[in-house]
Amino acid sequence: MNIILLGPPGAGKGTQAKRMIDEYGIPQISTGDMLRAALKEGTPLGLEAKKFMDKGELVPDSVVIGLVKERILKDDCAKGYMLDGFPRNVSQAEALDKTLEALGQKIDHVVCVEVPNEELVTRLTGRRTCRNCGAGYHISFDPPKKENVCDKCGGELYQRDDDNVATVTSRLKVYEDQTKPLIDYYEKQAKLRRINGVGSMGEIFARVKAVLG
Ligand code: AMP
Repeated sequence: MNIILLGPPGAGKGTQAKRMIDEYGIPQISTGDMLRAALKEGTPLGLEAKKFMDKGELVPDSVVIGLVKERILKDDCAKGYMLDGFPRNVSQAEALDKTLEALGQKIDHVVCVEVPNEELVTRLTGRRTCRNCGAGYHISFDPPKKENVCDKCGGELYQRDDDNVATVTSRLKVYEDQTKPLIDYYEKQAKLRRINGVGSMGEIFARVKAVLG
């Protein structure tokens, strides 16, 4: 089963994807995570991408399309995959359709996670991640027992560079202008499955499972 997780930054796509890995036995392909990993390793691609990510802008299509094309050919994608944060605009969606057609594959479902804008800003700016084990927290909704320390491993918590108010505002605008048109794109292909992204992690996961059958 090939799935796209669509929705604004902060909708909880990554969180749901992590639960879906076990449920469906397919990997999460997050272009944001791949770009952050490249940046951490200090590769030329990562350093180039950082210029765009810091401003909340999209990294050039050629870069992310190349990353995804390479990734979906790996063995662990044989039974399917979840694309998280890709495609981000119509030209990426068209490139994906073309690539999949050539491979004899297709997207089965596009799960669109809907959350009101005001809530997204609060969610994103309060997000913290453990530098050591990657566990996620929120300073108001899911705080660690001790400030800035991971409950699970004692690692230091950090805020993503692009989760500050200015960059979040720009990321939400980019979503409205460039990514939202994909709702129409996939509705026309009868693949769009809308779910309400407000609620507990478990409630939202139940909604995801309900639309995927
Ligand atoms: P995310 O982790 O999905 O919120 O992505 C963080 C940042 O990485 C975005 O604000 C973009 O700068 C970049 N990025 C991630 N995925 C894409 C994509 N499919 N196309 C272009 N830029 C992307």
